[in-house]
Amino acid sequence: MIVLGIETSCDECSASLVEDGHTILSNIIATQIELHKPYEGVVPELASRLHTEWISQVVQSALDKANLTVNDIDAVAVTSRPGLLGSLLVGVSFAKGFAASLNLPFITIDHIRAHLYASQIEHPLEYPYLGVLVSGGHTVICRVDDYDTIEVLGTTIDDAIGEAFDKVAKHYGFGYPGGVAIDRLARTGNPVAFLFPGPKLNVMDHPYDISYSGLKTAVINQLDSFWDGESEKSPENIAASFQRAAVNMLMKRVRQALKETGLKRLSAGGGVAANSYLRSELLSLQEGGYGVSFPSLKLCTDNGAMIAALAYRYLQDGILSDFSEAPHARVTAFKKQYAK
Ligand code: ATP
Ligand code: MG
Ligand code: FE
Repeated sequence: MIVLGIETSCDECSASLVEDGHTILSNIIATQIELHKPYEGVVPELASRLHTEWISQVVQSALDKANLTVNDIDAVAVTSRPGLLGSLLVGVSFAKGFAASLNLPFITIDHIRAHLYASQIEHPLEYPYLGVLVSGGHTVICRVDDYDTIEVLGTTIDDAIGEAFDKVAKHYGFGYPGGVAIDRLARTGNPVAFLFPGPKLNVMDHPYDISYSGLKTAVINQLDSFWDGESEKSPENIAASFQRAAVNMLMKRVRQALKETGLKRLSAGGGVAANSYLRSELLSLQEGGYGVSFPSLKLCTDNGAMIAALAYRYLQDGILSDFSEAPHARVTAFKKQYAK
């Protein structure tokens, strides 16, 4: 079964064809980054206009790359939440028209669930496992019992981890999004040059919650403070120390959650799962006997393949969406909602 997955929740216009949930036939990702650069962030109206201009060609490119025609497609899936409303509307409206005209099943997908599912395309893990979702807008530690049964154990109480990377990068003048630039700069820096403190949270009630706002401010203040050009204070050292602090805060909670839930496997997803230090820390869990899975670099950030792959699971269970479904800017299964 071949599913077309469409993703337009933010500034990536993506379409992918995935066969039987695992074989990626094509995954076209047209990024708008350069066009938003002058504004140092994503301009919502510009994003939706560009999606409107590009979507048709992006889907055609996905078909061409896979050497298929529209008649080979068995179902159409699209991100419908959360994201920029105007951007979501373009993808959802296009997908509805596409599915209706070809009389194909239509499935709407939660973007955040799809990020968490992305690792399962190439490196499937047996359920249950600990889910670690680290993206530009979300930071969630959860228990995943199957592709649709997910219990949130902890979330950020303020900034997302990717947001902290982006804001620090912006302060460096690296442009948006800046996570990759920090990752690169950190490679030549000393990660223990600065010991940034972790957050002090109410660990009694929500031990897996996390906070990135304080760290972000501490790093920005450090960047702003006087540098004589010779001391430990160099951009590389600050980047490496920030990255170490941001990842270690997360890993501390991940290790604790693995211990306390008794889960033996872990899967990460979202743009920050592309971070080299986080990937090496996650892999080191294998030494303790844990199964670890994360997406290849291209499947960490926004892409249509994760949408098509997750939709395949819903299709297998006969769960379809209705053409009356509307996109939602904020609604996601990963809102701060605890099982207890
Ligand atoms: P959300 O998925 O929460 O709606 P989003 O779609 O904007 O937000 P993603 O596509 O998951 O987020 O990822 C983008 C984020 O990942 C950005 O914050 C970016 O800086 C960050 N990122 C990408 N690569 C790296 C890296 N190597 N190191 C750190 N951060 C990274
Ligand atoms: Mg993006
Ligand atoms: Fe995303």
